[in-house]
Amino acid sequence: MGYSREVYDAAIAELGRRRTNASAKAAALREHMIEKHPRIRELELEMAGASVRVARAVLNGGDVTAAVEKIKTQNLSQQAELAEILSREGIHSPNFEPNYACPICQDTGYIGNRMCECFKLLLREEAFRRLSYMGMMKDADFHSLKLEYYPDTPDPRGVSPRRRMAEVLEYCRNYAADFDEKSPSLLLRGATGTGKTHTSLAIAREVVERGFGVIYGPMQKLLHQLEKEHFGRDDGNSEDMMIDCDLLILDDLGAEFSTSFYNSCLYNLINSRMLDGKPTIISTNLDKNEILDRYGEQISSRIIGTFVPLTFIGKDIRLIRLRNEI
Ligand SMILES: [Zn+2]
Repeated sequence: MGYSREVYDAAIAELGRRRTNASAKAAALREHMIEKHPRIRELELEMAGASVRVARAVLNGGDVTAAVEKIKTQNLSQQAELAEILSREGIHSPNFEPNYACPICQDTGYIGNRMCECFKLLLREEAFRRLSYMGMMKDADFHSLKLEYYPDTPDPRGVSPRRRMAEVLEYCRNYAADFDEKSPSLLLRGATGTGKTHTSLAIAREVVERGFGVIYGPMQKLLHQLEKEHFGRDDGNSEDMMIDCDLLILDDLGAEFSTSFYNSCLYNLINSRMLDGKPTIISTNLDKNEILDRYGEQISSRIIGTFVPLTFIGKDIRLIRLRNEI
């Protein structure tokens, strides 16, 4: 997949940061060890002088082979002594080689002329991050979504919102913790302010932390981006990325403008990901009938027929928070 110049620059900068960081850590460790065991510095100097001593032995003439052999033996015993000191400290690389994030390419991003997998992964993550809106709610995680926000008194159907939401949130927490490419798609449904956005962001955060490629965004914003690219007002391949990512989260289905272009984009995203077996999460205020009315049979049957439905109930959490009721 091709990426923009900015994505490449950002990934290359990150590789640079990783190399600098690895070298700085190795240098700091060496300094610390020398301070603790001054003998290390002496051994390093003695070993560094070995080639000079060999050259001198050659220049001096006499039994060069015996002299070189003696220097070699000394060198080996110095190496062993150094390795011994360091291994007692739990260090197994006597030359204090940097501990690179990717030992295969040593954080250069290339193995010969071939791009390393770590570089490909960085490009992918960077591209997804740029397309996502995860900064929207900085504190959105599972800890900050408190069950106390949901009333414990049963509603007219005899259901306690708090008890129901405890189950829903438990499901979502496990979903994020166990997420893999075979996870099901989810439909988070419920009235405004019942915690759907917060929950989907919490899932997004955790799945990203677990190393998966996630694109998260409000429907309107993501579809608008596709529109700009489709009509040539912006470069990019957002559609490919939205189809390709491990988890696509479309927040607030139904809040976007209703246009046939948006509907065809939505159909393509849902259908392509379904065919690839990739999970998608959709949150919406619409109920099943409203989804059917607005999006028609083709889109609705895919969402309603294959997504695991999770219903959010309760009062508007945002109002409760604003009023400081809790
Ligand atoms: Zn690598």
